[in-house]
Amino acid sequence: MSRDDHANSGRITAQGPLKDQPCPLCRISQGEVLAEFQRWKLVRTKTMKGHKERLMLFHKEHLRTLDEGSVGEAYLLLMNAGSKFFSYTDKWAIFEPVYATVPDHWHRVASDLDEKAQDYGQILKTPRMIIDNHDGTISRMHPDRDQESPAPSSNPL
Ligand SMILES: [Zn+2]
Repeated sequence: MSRDDHANSGRITAQGPLKDQPCPLCRISQGEVLAEFQRWKLVRTKTMKGHKERLMLFHKEHLRTLDEGSVGEAYLLLMNAGSKFFSYTDKWAIFEPVYATVPDHWHRVASDLDEKAQDYGQILKTPRMIIDNHDGTISRMHPDRDQESPAPSSNPL
């Protein structure tokens, strides 16, 4: 009446689900990493879309959403790294992931604001944080809500 010897079948865990992990961010190789932080990695994006520089910061873990503190940390790291990588240009931006192709893995893309870039039309439609390298100012653009100069007293509708 003892069948305990068969209990070890179906317990093979050496080949985890990571092998056929479909997430492209989880599959980014270490050789592509420009900078690594405790919880984040910085890479150059695979598609540059006509920009001289285009970066992505992503969480090391496959997480869709993060707490506010982590998001703040990510922006701080990306702004820091960006001030070096985008030193060739006047202004650059960090984009909200409204057009993100990998919404399940938290990341933020940053690029210069070259008007000749292939995605410039999309850039104008994307909520973004614009960093000015010269005076260090940061401004936010919300294309669906307002344009660069908010005018709370005048409502065209
Ligand atoms: Zn992932």
